[in-house]
Amino acid sequence: LVNPAVTSIPADFLITNATSVVTCAGPAPRIGRRQGDVSALADAVLAGYQGRIVFVGSRDAGAAAVRLVPDGVTLNASGCTVIPGFVDPHTHAVYAGDRRHELRKRLSGASYAEIAAEGGGILSTVTATRAADEEQLVRESLPRFEDMLRSGTTTCEVKSGYGLDVESELRTLRAIARLGERQPIEISPTFLGAHEVPPEYRSQRQAYVDLVINRMMPAVAASGLAEWCDVFCDEGFFTVDESRDILLAGRAAGFGLRLHADELAASGGSLLAAEMGARSADHLLFATDGAATALAEARVVATLLPVAAFYLKLGRYAPARALIDAGVAVALATDVNPGGGFSPSMPFAMALACFAMNMTLEESLLAATLNAAYSLDRHHRVGSLEVGKQMDAVVVQGDLIDLVRVGVPAIKNVIKKGVVV
Ligand SMILES: [Zn+2]
Repeated sequence: LVNPAVTSIPADFLITNATSVVTCAGPAPRIGRRQGDVSALADAVLAGYQGRIVFVGSRDAGAAAVRLVPDGVTLNASGCTVIPGFVDPHTHAVYAGDRRHELRKRLSGASYAEIAAEGGGILSTVTATRAADEEQLVRESLPRFEDMLRSGTTTCEVKSGYGLDVESELRTLRAIARLGERQPIEISPTFLGAHEVPPEYRSQRQAYVDLVINRMMPAVAASGLAEWCDVFCDEGFFTVDESRDILLAGRAAGFGLRLHADELAASGGSLLAAEMGARSADHLLFATDGAATALAEARVVATLLPVAAFYLKLGRYAPARALIDAGVAVALATDVNPGGGFSPSMPFAMALACFAMNMTLEESLLAATLNAAYSLDRHHRVGSLEVGKQMDAVVVQGDLIDLVRVGVPAIKNVIKKGVVV
């Protein structure tokens, strides 16, 4: 006879009685028709030990295999659905200042160009961010992470890009690193020195591109404070040729590549992302069928940000169906930012994905979890409820569809590394 106490799996955190555990299991990324396959287990148990998942399976198999250690925590998820913690792969959550008054102006009919002409837009955030010290950036940004966490996000990406000079970009990235230590959400940091040409370089664009490539990039690489290099490649921002030069330098400096592409016009960003083998091309409101094919062939993730399109009143959304049908892995993000990124909620992004971009509920969940984790190269650790991964989970009151009932607080618990946060 085998002593079950010896053979069983120790657990210090257990979620029981869930109506369904939706694992979103890999392999990552989920592409095409498989993007809708979320691997839901009815009446399942999820167990963690020291922050990692050690068991996911049926109640009976769990009862036989898992042993709760003394002082272990059991969460009764009766009537609930358990899903992976959300991964938000595109935010600009660290900045100083406040631009909410611009939203009111926009609601009164002002265009983005008119607001920018009055000193608003990205450049007003640049002015405030340059004036803020590191501690102020951390202090002002912290509540945004609390909002994200409450919305079920347990991992996110954050970009610099409101400093636009060497020291302010580095200071922003240091603030991002400190925020990663000060609150539960794990942060994947991105260097976005090419977010916008700052006012002092408006009449000498090439000098700014040179500054990004020759001064900022080496300093950021040496600091070890960023994993990714991103460029705002679009009409009125950086051209395809400028963006290519910056991405080439980014790749040479050891960064993974991401790109703001085809948000405001069909400006060639998607094709550049494919050409460069970027990990992710983001926004894509104007992506063509040809761009979708190129992204699929180059295995670039399409990270779609319908919350931004909604709050910016862009009047259109990315062609999610065409991208999925072309075989592109689609991810979702909130685009938290001081202008149009007004919601920290991945469930809201899912709701828009379903009801404005014609994705299925299951496709939108995969886009908000496993495919988002893949876009950040973290799919080995987060994004699904699989043995060996981090115990990052969200307990949803009711069914999966309750997540997209905007205004109803469906998120009951958020768990990061096996701790209810
Ligand atoms: Zn962005």
